[in-house]
Amino acid sequence: MVYIHPDECVYCEACIPECPVEAIFHDDNVPTPWLHDIELNAKRSKEFPPAPPK
Ligand code: SF4
Repeated sequence: MVYIHPDECVYCEACIPECPVEAIFHDDNVPTPWLHDIELNAKRSKEFPPAPPK
């Protein structure tokens, strides 16, 4: 799983079409069953180091 740091994201949405399982949504478009994941993502994104650059 990948977490996106909400303070680092600039909402460019470039990652949305790249996700192979269509699991990334802009905050405003998160489906209702997954709304609780917004808070989980914010919490977990601060617990892991950033992904290394490609
Ligand atoms: S690619 Fe995705 S995570 Fe990165 S800044 Fe753009 S919207 Fe945010």
